[in-house]
Amino acid sequence: RGIDELINGLVRDVPDYPKPGIVFKDITPLLADASAFARTIDALCAPWIDADPRVDKVVGIEARGFILAAPVALALGAGFVPVRKQGKLPGLTHSQTYALEYGQETLEIHQDAIAAGERVLVIDDVLATGGTVEATVGLIRAGGAEIVGVSVLLELGFLRGRERVAELAALRSLAQI
Ligand code: IMP
Repeated sequence: RGIDELINGLVRDVPDYPKPGIVFKDITPLLADASAFARTIDALCAPWIDADPRVDKVVGIEARGFILAAPVALALGAGFVPVRKQGKLPGLTHSQTYALEYGQETLEIHQDAIAAGERVLVIDDVLATGGTVEATVGLIRAGGAEIVGVSVLLELGFLRGRERVAELAALRSLAQI
């Protein structure tokens, strides 16, 4: 089976979560399957494993992005850097606020986590409207680093998040619905 079929087969639809009318894509069954989890991490790493120059930092977006980005960072010999919700990081941060369907969200990164000029790969579980990825890209660029890629497990194509970050050369999704 292809990785896209594997992911689509193991990600579970949860209707009316977190609110009525939303169908939540739950990746926990995929994570719980040892071989599917391993294949997913391999597929996220594949474009970068022999990259020259190498990836310096892998950024994971709280919270499910952490689960994927940390093993990718280890496999690539790169550092892991968390992007977190407001108020969780103890040091000096860059911060970006963006609009959600209802309300807003603020994401932060440590100012000293990534050096200017470093090559950064961003990882998250799901690309929906693209707001989270757009804000994360802004945080990383604020420190003068270069985004070499953004990879997600699953792209919800009908929400057109890809168009919101159209200037990103290397936005990859392992599976799409
Ligand atoms: P966006 O900012 O609208 O693209 O939403 C993406 C963010 O929300 C990611 O960090 C995801 O973890 C989360 N997210 C949105 N929809 C889902 C879903 O159906 N399943 C899991 N996470 C989701």
